[in-house]
Amino acid sequence: MIVPRAAILSIGDELVLGTTLDTNGRTVSEALREAGLDVVEHRTVRDDRAAIAAAMRDLAASCDVLVSTGGLGPTDDDLTRDALNDLCDGGAPMVEDPQSRADLEAWFAGRGRAMAAINLRQAMRPRGARAIRNPGGTAPGLAATIGACRAWCLPGPPREMVPMFESDVLPAARPAGAPALAKCTVGTYGMGESSLAQRLGARMARDREPAVGTTASGSVVSIQVVARGPDAPRRAAEEAQACASIAAPYAFGTDGASLASALLDECRARRRTVTVAESCTGGLIGGMLTAVAGSSDCFPGGWITYSNALKTSEVGVAPEVLARHGAVSAETVAAMAAGACARAGATLGIAVSGIAGPGGAVEGKPVGTVWIAVHDASTGETRARRFEFPGPRDVVRDRAAKAALQLARWTLRGEDAPLIWERA
Ligand code: ATP
Ligand code: MG
Repeated sequence: MIVPRAAILSIGDELVLGTTLDTNGRTVSEALREAGLDVVEHRTVRDDRAAIAAAMRDLAASCDVLVSTGGLGPTDDDLTRDALNDLCDGGAPMVEDPQSRADLEAWFAGRGRAMAAINLRQAMRPRGARAIRNPGGTAPGLAATIGACRAWCLPGPPREMVPMFESDVLPAARPAGAPALAKCTVGTYGMGESSLAQRLGARMARDREPAVGTTASGSVVSIQVVARGPDAPRRAAEEAQACASIAAPYAFGTDGASLASALLDECRARRRTVTVAESCTGGLIGGMLTAVAGSSDCFPGGWITYSNALKTSEVGVAPEVLARHGAVSAETVAAMAAGACARAGATLGIAVSGIAGPGGAVEGKPVGTVWIAVHDASTGETRARRFEFPGPRDVVRDRAAKAALQLARWTLRGEDAPLIWERA
C-alpha cells in the first residue's frame, strides 16, 4: 500500500514572529499520522499573498494532502483565500458561495449584530474550490485541488479549526485500507526517563509491535504505546496496562489522566476528602485539583499560608515550631498538613513549604529545598519528606505541587517509593 504524503502550512505573522505558538500544526500532524498518512513537512509563512501561494505550490508539488490553517478572516491581512485562488484559478475573480453567505448572515443575526461589509469577503471562494462550513465562527474553510494534491484551508483559531478538520478533512484524507492505529499513553511521575526506559527494557525495542516509547513534558514522563493492525485498540490498551504495572507506583494513569485527577479518583473510590495548606506552591495544588471537573466531591478547599503569621492563624502551626525549626522544615509542614485537615474536616491533608528561588537560600537549605507532608486523618499518621528540586522558580513550584499530589496518592494506595528529587 502506498502511504499518502501530507504537509501542513501554518499561516500568520504572529506564528512566524513567535507571539503565537503553532498548536494547529501539532494537532493536525498527530491526527493525520494516526489516520495513516506520512506527514513530511510543516511550514510556517507570514500573512503575505505571494509567500502563501509559493508555499502552497511547493508543498502541493511533493504531497498528496495539504492542510493550511489561518488567514481566512475578513481583514486585509487575511490572504489565504486569494493565494489559493491565484494557484487554482489564476487569480480570476472569485465567486460568492450562497451557503457561506447565508451562514454569515445567520451568524450575525443570531447574535443581534450588524454584519460589516468586509465580512462578505469570507463568503467568496475560488471557482474551483468548495466551501467548508464553520459552525464555530465566521470564516468558512476551503477545499480545492492544486495539481494532484488535495488541499484544505481552515481558519486559524483552534476552537474553529479542530471541529472542521475532524468532520471534513480527516474522513476524506484518511487512506482507504490504512492499517488501524491505536495510541495509549501512561503518565508517570517521580522517576527519571532513563530509569523508566531501563525498567521497560526490551519493550522499547525499535521494531517491536506494539511500539513503546517515552516522552517527558512538564516533568511528567509518559509512556507512549502505539499498536497497528487488527485489534489495535485492545492490544494498545493491554500493552499500556503492562507498562503501567512495570512503572508502578510511579504510573498514575492513562490517556487524559493528570496527577490531580488520579488523586481525586483514589479519594472518590475510598470516600476520602483532601485539603491543602500551601506555602511556596501558592495555590498551584489547589489549582490543579480544581482544574478537574467534579473535584468538589473530594476537595472542600484549602489555604495559601505564605507568611508565618497565616501558618499560625489559619492552620494552627504553633509559633514555637516556626521559631525553632523555621518555615521550611519537617515539623512545620507536618503541623500545616494536620492543622489543615482538622480545620477543613478533610481526611487527607497536603502541605508544602520550601524555597522556590531565585533568592532565599540559607545555610543547609539551598534554592529548591521543599518539604512536603501528607497527613492521613484515618490513621493519624503524618509523613514529611525533603526534596531538592532543580530548575528555575516556576519549575521548582510545579515539580513540588506534582510531587505532593503523587505522595498523597501513594498514601491512599498504601504505596511508597523514592522520588528522584528526594533528599533524606
Ligand atoms: P479569523 O476569522 O479569526 O481571523 P483566520 O483564519 O483569519 O480566522 P488567523 O487570523 O490567522 O485566522 O488567526 C486567528 C487566531 O487564531 C490567531 O490570533 C491565533 O490566536 C489563532 N491561531 C492562528 N493560527 C494558529 C496556529 N497555527 N496555532 C494556534 N493558534 C493559531
Ligand atoms: Mg484573521
